[in-house]
Amino acid sequence: MAKFVFVTGGVLSGLGKGISASSIALLLQSRGLAVTAIKIDPYLNCDAGTMNPYQHGEVFVLEDGGEVDMDLGSYERFLNTDLTKDHNITTGKIYKSVIEKERRGDYLGATVQIIPHITDEIKSCIRRVAERTRAEVVLVEVGGTVGDIESMPFLEAIRQMHQELGDAHCTFVHTTLVPTVSAVGEQKTKPTQHSVKELRAIGIQPDIIIGRSDQPLKESIRKKIALFCDVPVEAVISAPHAPSIYRVPLDFEEQGLTDLLLRRLSLTSQKRDLLEWRAFTEAIAHPRAKTRIALVGKYTDLQDSYVSYTEALTHAGAALGVSIEIIWLEADQFSEQLLESVDGVIVPVGFGHRGAEGKIRAIHCARTRQIPFLGICYGFQLAVVEFARNVLGLKEANSTEFGPTPHPVIDLMPEQQTLSEKGATMRLGAYPVMIVRGTRALKLYKTTEISERHRHRYEVNPKYIGPLEAAGLKFSGKSPDGRRMEILELADHPYFMASQFHPEFKSRPTQPRPLFLGFVEKCLERSSSAR
Ligand code: GLN
Repeated sequence: MAKFVFVTGGVLSGLGKGISASSIALLLQSRGLAVTAIKIDPYLNCDAGTMNPYQHGEVFVLEDGGEVDMDLGSYERFLNTDLTKDHNITTGKIYKSVIEKERRGDYLGATVQIIPHITDEIKSCIRRVAERTRAEVVLVEVGGTVGDIESMPFLEAIRQMHQELGDAHCTFVHTTLVPTVSAVGEQKTKPTQHSVKELRAIGIQPDIIIGRSDQPLKESIRKKIALFCDVPVEAVISAPHAPSIYRVPLDFEEQGLTDLLLRRLSLTSQKRDLLEWRAFTEAIAHPRAKTRIALVGKYTDLQDSYVSYTEALTHAGAALGVSIEIIWLEADQFSEQLLESVDGVIVPVGFGHRGAEGKIRAIHCARTRQIPFLGICYGFQLAVVEFARNVLGLKEANSTEFGPTPHPVIDLMPEQQTLSEKGATMRLGAYPVMIVRGTRALKLYKTTEISERHRHRYEVNPKYIGPLEAAGLKFSGKSPDGRRMEILELADHPYFMASQFHPEFKSRPTQPRPLFLGFVEKCLERSSSAR
């Protein structure tokens, strides 16, 4: 039977609980165990797909089309595993299922209540993942902060799981903040004490406490937390600010966290294998060159909105021994001068009209000034609009996403026309893409059939494909039936590539995605030739 590691958070959000959870998962996997991860999000949305990135950061997309919390992106990257939508449990999903069962008559005669009906549903969702994946260890991260009304049923459910399964099958890890308040640098334990008190009031005693702080936790502080929170000193783990998120598992390993977890769960260690991971973190820490890449977005105040881009660039950079400085440019305020000192431009995902014109100006500038360019999804669509306006001369060309236009070069996909519901109705998840011979796309992917993840309602209008190609825009990747345009590129340009799909979702630490790798390579060439 699977063992469970439950990760909760205290004091405040944004402490990197997802990274701590992913690190723990990776460490257990590195000892030869089959590990999987679940994220619980205590909001009423059924999935993250209907939320603005400013709410919870990027919407991550899985192979099966699940639109999920960004933490699933970090589990996939750390574990190098594809997950499914079952791995993201939300309050919305749980209630929807319980209410459907009630209507069907599954509970006939009963008063349907939070305990036991909601908590049973939560437990069965967690167990279902354990069974389907046959994982030896399931890491369950409970989103939100202990004490929130929203997370109560989830905490109650995991408390019950511990009561049913016992210590050898369940471990509780609590992540908290240890702030440094005074000028003398004194670390304060009171917020941790309070948050553990809150957790205990619910009936959960943490086994391990991870303290986030600016500097490593002082020995006296670890002892104090151990005493007040009733855990052994070695179970108080220090999580100071790390130069890279990928360093965190190594820091935890050095503090003996993996051995502690294995002992707690009565698991035996089979092997120790972090060699590749170490090499990857070394490559990040010791780059031999640097390049500056602009990301022209509209949620740039919250960089979590674009986290898969940052990571995909980091992976490509590590493979090439390059450090990448991302210059965050807000599309609304875009002007050409902002691209003076950059080596490449990314125009990422987007929805709605705001920011579109600024992004089109950025694409124009990258195209005409020979700056390496990578456009993704919305960025791909706007590259088509820019080309239609300025090369084909269709001045009013646009996407119908922004309203009616005489030249709808980007239009709603036919199957989208009749949809009335917004949730989970885009073209989502992994679809095959055929690469056209004799193109840069083929050089990058080195194969004619690939699979990438999607999330869109609009596409290149088939009526304009002929004229666009005749004017020099090459569609170098298409759906197998040849109907949908998936990749575009320009010859006579150092690197002008864009994709309707999202390669960033499939980038992994030691397996950078071809479109990013090729892009960073060209950015590096440009930065070296400028010097
Ligand atoms: N808004 C565009 C569409 O729905 C692009 C979506 C995206 O960038 N993911 O097609």
